Amino acid sequence: MSVLAEQLDLPTLNEMFEASDPAKIVEWSAAQFADRLVMSSSFGAESALLIHMATRLKPDIKIIFLDTGYLFPETHLFMEQLRARFDLNVWTYRTRNDPIAYLHHAGEENPTWRKDPDACCAANKEEPMERAMRELAPKGWLRGIRRNQAETRKERQFIEWSPRYSCYVISPLLNWTGREIFAYMKKHDLPYHPLYEKGYASIGCNPLSCTRPITEGEDPRSGRWSGQGKVECGINLNNSLDSAGL
Ligand code: SF4
Repeated sequence: MSVLAEQLDLPTLNEMFEASDPAKIVEWSAAQFADRLVMSSSFGAESALLIHMATRLKPDIKIIFLDTGYLFPETHLFMEQLRARFDLNVWTYRTRNDPIAYLHHAGEENPTWRKDPDACCAANKEEPMERAMRELAPKGWLRGIRRNQAETRKERQFIEWSPRYSCYVISPLLNWTGREIFAYMKKHDLPYHPLYEKGYASIGCNPLSCTRPITEGEDPRSGRWSGQGKVECGINLNNSLDSAGL
């Protein structure tokens, strides 16, 4: 029988996971949290990898997919393709805002550019995420972040407690590089997001201010909110934006 999640010895587990294969960490998570394990997916560039790894062990795992209202059409298509191929249990949480009305009320006159991306992410991405975590009330949340994606991710641990979501957050792919990702994708014949081959290494929403293709040598997240001093939408941060009134 697994111990209560709140009693987990994180330093020991993290030391062990540093030397573990990601699939073993997912396996441990499935055993530890059973039906209280969920995962999130942006259905982005390399999302098929963690989905494949997780559903091999837990075919019916709930997959949280946040629909901000501003995703690329290709992302919706990609999600449907993966859902059909792997019979995925996708739980789509949508923004409460009408996408056009939000732009109007927020004073965002240009639909292809956000003047205030923090406010837009809080209203259209963080609120649905917080709602998903409240409603699903997981004990463990699997996510696909990697340390080499951004400075903000270099200090992350394989398993952390999130006071914001009141659950453990497990990031099995932390130490993988693009090479290991590619090898796994190839071995299991997994597709990249259709925009990946057009230079989009990290894919979020479609305004050019939020996602652009990268050039050789740039880190994978440099195409997100480029030049705006923002590298995270906020759902992976521990601080809770007060989205209650949004
Ligand atoms: S990524 Fe851009 S469009 Fe999407 S929620 Fe954030 S600011 Fe809004």
